[in-house]
Amino acid sequence: MKRQMIFLGPPACGKGTQTGRLAEYFGLPHVDTGSLLRAEIKAQTENGMIAKQYIDKGHLVPPELVGSIIKDRLSQKDCTNGYILDGYPRSLRQAEILEEINAELNKDEKANFMAIYFDVDESLLLSRIVNRRSCSACGEIYNLKFHPTKVEGVCDKCGGELTQRKDDTEEIARERFDTYKRETAPLIDYYTQKGVLHNLDANGSINEVWDRLLKIVE
Ligand code: AMP
Repeated sequence: MKRQMIFLGPPACGKGTQTGRLAEYFGLPHVDTGSLLRAEIKAQTENGMIAKQYIDKGHLVPPELVGSIIKDRLSQKDCTNGYILDGYPRSLRQAEILEEINAELNKDEKANFMAIYFDVDESLLLSRIVNRRSCSACGEIYNLKFHPTKVEGVCDKCGGELTQRKDDTEEIARERFDTYKRETAPLIDYYTQKGVLHNLDANGSINEVWDRLLKIVE
């Protein structure tokens, strides 16, 4: 049966790293709304210009805009066997939109839908965010303190140059945490009530969290 997985958790809880690995493991597309929106900004599309105004403040991009981007992406052929959805949904309205999209996608074949909540000690997250860097070529995520590259500023995987996201500053990160608490955290109850939520202890090293994640999804 096809797998459709979504992931909840505060900014910098480790979702990006783990969902990237999971996508490779299952051979499913890793669909990450943050990256899709940043690509729109880079390409200077109309959607990108609108999204930028919200991202730069640490607020959520309007649900209709993200909804149309995600609908297009999930309707592509590579999502036929399922998807690993990272950073969507982020509000109750988005959860409803995803249900509408899934109803359409799953007309002919049922899906195994799972929501996984990254339960993490939030006191560490701000320091993770301001020290986070990613490869400008392949997107691999590093951290200056907790997961540095072997050569400073150079990606271990592809040799690309490391960059810092514009919204990974302390001020914007604090706003993103507030947005998460207000808009996204209510989804934990929402999916619990639907009986599809799995709690993942997301504290510890990347490999420890990975082992726990595999036990849930396999
Ligand atoms: P992320 O890369 O997941 O940390 O997302 C970076 C920023 O993109 C967020 O702070 C939001 O402004 C925006 N964003 C990403 N995903 C969504 C979404 N599902 N809904 C609304 N805005 C989003």
